[in-house]
Amino acid sequence: MNKKQILYVLVCLTGMSIYSVPAFSWGQEGHRIIAKIAYDNLNCGTRKKVDKLLGKQGMIYYANWPDEIKSDTIYPTSYDWHFQDFDGGMSDSAVVAALTDYPKEGGNLFRAMDSLVAEAKADPTRDHTLRFIVHLAGDRFCPMHTAHMDDKGGNTVKMQWFGRNTRLHTVWDTNLIESQGYSYTEYAQMLTHKYGWKKKAILQMSEEELLLRNYHFTEAIYAYQATWDGNTYHYIYRWHEPMEEQLYIAGIRLAKLLNGVY
Ligand SMILES: [Zn+2]
Repeated sequence: MNKKQILYVLVCLTGMSIYSVPAFSWGQEGHRIIAKIAYDNLNCGTRKKVDKLLGKQGMIYYANWPDEIKSDTIYPTSYDWHFQDFDGGMSDSAVVAALTDYPKEGGNLFRAMDSLVAEAKADPTRDHTLRFIVHLAGDRFCPMHTAHMDDKGGNTVKMQWFGRNTRLHTVWDTNLIESQGYSYTEYAQMLTHKYGWKKKAILQMSEEELLLRNYHFTEAIYAYQATWDGNTYHYIYRWHEPMEEQLYIAGIRLAKLLNGVY
């Protein structure tokens, strides 16, 4: 093999290693960040009960379990518990109505959360119920899990991310969070330092206020999408901090929920 051939093989191998690295998605890292922030904000008594059910810090380890069991048959109806789609341009009152008058199509996130919380209150010893609550409480704050029905929550919106094919849904589940390069523990710690001053206000917000905030947040993402020039750096610059705030809010609200149930 001459030098040119060796160089060619090296270039190919380098390329292969880049593309064969498994993606650490929001599905994994985002849910862990949210669970870690929540865990650090649990009351002592609640933390003991949660640890007893899932093992020490287990709620972080199991934060992605509801995504993993989609490939199993034990919870055959759980697929649509992870999202609740909306149409664009809805009135605030129509959006808020979805919290109690569950939409008949476009996901079952709100219905699933309400029944899981009721289940946990009735029987706080069921570990699967807790695993679902930890995960779905995070999905509730993923903008593309409460996005438009007609594009399947951003899944049909094709995009380029540093020259590679992706979709709007994946940008928000995976690409944006990856772009910052933190581990989940570093990210959770950083967000606590950065947004801790907002904790009190986040705890005081009603479910209706939070849902409307989410809805308008997602609508702003769609509005930006319509004008975006394809510059990935600008996308990250524009959206990574709002994305981080979503993670922090999700963590604090999950802690509040668990402190009230367990
Ligand atoms: Zn999910």
